[in-house]
Amino acid sequence: AEFYQKLPKVELHAHLNGSVSSETIQKLLSRKPHLNIKHSMTAIGKGQRRTLDECFEVFKVIHKLVDTEEDILMVATDVIREFAADGVKYLELRSTPREEKETRLTKANYVETVIKAIQQCKEEDLDIDVRFLIAIDRRNGTDVAMETVKLAEQYMLSSEGLVVGLDLSGDPTVGHGKDLLPALQRAKNCGLKLSLHLSEVPSQLEETDLLLHLPPDRIGHGTFLHPEVGGSQSLVDKVVKNNIPLELCLTSNVKGQTVASYADHHFKYWYQLGHPTVICTDDKGVFCTDLSHEYQVAASTFGLSHEDMWRISNQAIDCIFATEAVKQQLKQKWNDLHPQVL
Ligand code: IMP
Repeated sequence: AEFYQKLPKVELHAHLNGSVSSETIQKLLSRKPHLNIKHSMTAIGKGQRRTLDECFEVFKVIHKLVDTEEDILMVATDVIREFAADGVKYLELRSTPREEKETRLTKANYVETVIKAIQQCKEEDLDIDVRFLIAIDRRNGTDVAMETVKLAEQYMLSSEGLVVGLDLSGDPTVGHGKDLLPALQRAKNCGLKLSLHLSEVPSQLEETDLLLHLPPDRIGHGTFLHPEVGGSQSLVDKVVKNNIPLELCLTSNVKGQTVASYADHHFKYWYQLGHPTVICTDDKGVFCTDLSHEYQVAASTFGLSHEDMWRISNQAIDCIFATEAVKQQLKQKWNDLHPQVL
């Protein structure tokens, strides 16, 4: 376990409000006792599984607890410190800007507060480089998607490189990608990198095919892309041809029951193919995990050595959305740490 902690890691798929630790939830609960929320409503513990629907109910509970600028600032700084303590050297956090009428929170305040948290953490001298992906919740439809892209464009230009891209997420059984295509196309045209949740559930083949034409810069999950699980060779070919990395979240998929067991995880298919895959947490708070643990689970499930895991973490650097110069800095950091770790 110590090896995986010490291993320098890159986290590319982490939803802010899904990453809130039990300690931070406790602080939020004491700020808002009147909400009568139980700690057990905010996480899915060891050995527990939920349907994907039930997982989305958990996010709604957390959103009630995180509804002021003050909450967002605390949650984001705590999450960044926790990733840093787990040996994550580069983190792309994603979050859906929310408006809360009651607390007068606007979407612009929301984005600015996450940026402020990232800047505050920089001053703490944590050994972690953090970037921000602004998320579109697919449930909210065409107009909100376009509005979110405009917000992301604005902050891409004014945040000194902190906002690097856009995420498409939310309940995969709601809405259709074709309605979001114009917004995603616009984002791509203005230089925002795209990470899209694709084929997280079966029966999204048509949507996946459509969105792969953009093409996205990375894919979240991609659980049902390959033919062995009802996807298709032509989808796999498109992903391979465009060399689109996959962000894979083992515990999340097992606990959310889109994958039957760790051994059945599609990590195996893509890893054997030699395709770029990045091990990620998705929602470390909700699924009670951290990135070290995810690396350890992948290694023990698929019989991978420490050298293999080093290579996986090193190759993740190639998949980040920040500039080439940042990639070079990270490569250097990995080189410097190599003798201490392996
Ligand atoms: P937030 O965007 O920071 O509020 O993080 C929580 C949100 O992330 C949820 O409401 C979903 O929209 C999204 N999310 C978290 N995990 C998943 C997932 O596994 N699939 C799709 N969307 C997700």
